[in-house]
Amino acid sequence: MTEHETYRQELDARGIRPTSVRIMILRTMHMFDTAFSMSDIEQALDTVDKSTVFRTLTLFAERHLIHDIDDGSGAVKYSLCKGDSSPHDHMHVHFTCERCHKTVCIRNVQAPMVKLPAGFALHDVNYVLKGLCPDCNKEQTTY
Ligand SMILES: [Zn+2]
Ligand SMILES: [Zn+2]
Repeated sequence: MTEHETYRQELDARGIRPTSVRIMILRTMHMFDTAFSMSDIEQALDTVDKSTVFRTLTLFAERHLIHDIDDGSGAVKYSLCKGDSSPHDHMHVHFTCERCHKTVCIRNVQAPMVKLPAGFALHDVNYVLKGLCPDCNKEQTTY
């Protein structure tokens, strides 16, 4: 199966019509190994207009192909959802590095569940930890 077909299937599986621009945007997303912002995608794809990038990100997020992360940087970041299409896949924790400002998914750590008072309905959890990533932490200790 070609790379292109893999992306087509990935979109199809989430009920997203695989247009060429959507495939291009998805391909770009796969090139990031950390969370990306809308402007990261815009910069990587300067031939695609901003409103298309915005609409595509919104659609991908609605269909749980990506999830958003508020890491306190002021810009919403996104990361691809891995594994099954369960909407609770994004309940893992995130880590943002104070030195290199990269934000990553820590997929094998679930966000701790909190018990809310009666009457509240929980829909989303945004659990972001801050500190040094392994690379920056290594640098720090070799001085
Ligand atoms: Zn770092
Ligand atoms: Zn994540």
